[in-house]
Amino acid sequence: MTIYKMILTQCAACATELGLSLGKKCGRCSTRYCGAACQGQHWKEGGHDKLCKPIKKAGGAEQYHANNKYAEAVSVAAKACADDTKGQTCYICTQALHWKTKEGLVRGCSCRGTSGFAHVSCLAEQAKILFAEAEENNLGKKALMERWKRWYTCGLCEQYYHGVVCCALSWACWKTYRGRPETDWPRRLAMGVLGNGLSDGKHVEDALSVQEAELAMLRRVGDSEHNILIALGNIAVTYNRLGRFEEALRLRREVYSGLLNLHGDQHFDTLREANNLATSLVNLKRFEEAKSLMRKMMPVARRALGENDETTLTMRWLYAVSLCRNVGATLEDLSEAVTALHETGQIARRVLGGAHPVTMEIERHLRESREELSARNVSSISEAVGALGV
Ligand SMILES: [Zn+2]
Ligand SMILES: [Zn+2]
Ligand SMILES: [Zn+2]
Ligand SMILES: [Zn+2]
Repeated sequence: MTIYKMILTQCAACATELGLSLGKKCGRCSTRYCGAACQGQHWKEGGHDKLCKPIKKAGGAEQYHANNKYAEAVSVAAKACADDTKGQTCYICTQALHWKTKEGLVRGCSCRGTSGFAHVSCLAEQAKILFAEAEENNLGKKALMERWKRWYTCGLCEQYYHGVVCCALSWACWKTYRGRPETDWPRRLAMGVLGNGLSDGKHVEDALSVQEAELAMLRRVGDSEHNILIALGNIAVTYNRLGRFEEALRLRREVYSGLLNLHGDQHFDTLREANNLATSLVNLKRFEEAKSLMRKMMPVARRALGENDETTLTMRWLYAVSLCRNVGATLEDLSEAVTALHETGQIARRVLGGAHPVTMEIERHLRESREELSARNVSSISEAVGALGV
């Protein structure tokens, strides 16, 4: 059985690693093999005799693979959203079932009530058209980037997509731009979107393979230091999800100080990386260091991004967590943490919605730290009572 990675980097028959360019290609459909033996065997016994034509028709092995993975991810997302989307219609095409693909609806942002239900295909089509329009009319890098965001943020609530919806859209993005040359920046960005989408959709091993291929490609084409740092930062997120905490921490220190040198402390990417570094420190129980990093950066984030930004919220939440998890946490620390979590929880509920993973995590930590605080209060009262000899 062929082990397909998310971007094809292996022999289609025996899974030998070929990187992004090595190996022998099928002359018709470009499926790659380690050599003639595997190619012959795959044709006779691996079913390639039947698949070669449809693969060629789709535009080659990479495109065929991306199309299939996309369709699979859409059906996973629609299934996961089925309860939530029952009786609703798509805000783009106004139908419940997509006219062509018959896919169901999804919602994975911060839209609430009856707002924001859509087909992944419709969201993807919209992002594609908006971006193409900006490219055709030479609207400039800033407008292009604004429109590019639609591959991972909702046009209505302006928050990030998360989970299975984020993952399905990332496949849509990759399948749209993967055919362009490597030197084309939308293709490079699309690879980054796919890596992050896979990671967010909990396909963490696959995410890592895409992100490693992306990094190799960025280095090969001599991309900017900024883009290489961002790619390294994304790899660290995935290390973290894989439980490879020490490696994640080492990488994050490098990325954070690199971005700090490059852009200063007010830049969005520096602030986001500060959070990632703090997450690693918390995972490794280095609470003192996490606390002082967050204490230093919180006022900067508030000024640069505002109180309601997801990055600012995450920063305050990480600060509170490192306050109350610290071994030497005092009662004052605990009550400061409870206050911060209470406030950020309310903001998160308002801005991101109660079903958003960040809101749910903040509220979980709020419950925990309240329990901890009341347990400590009870014991400190009984100690005081004991000391009085009552
Ligand atoms: Zn082979
Ligand atoms: Zn072929
Ligand atoms: Zn639709
Ligand atoms: Zn939304």
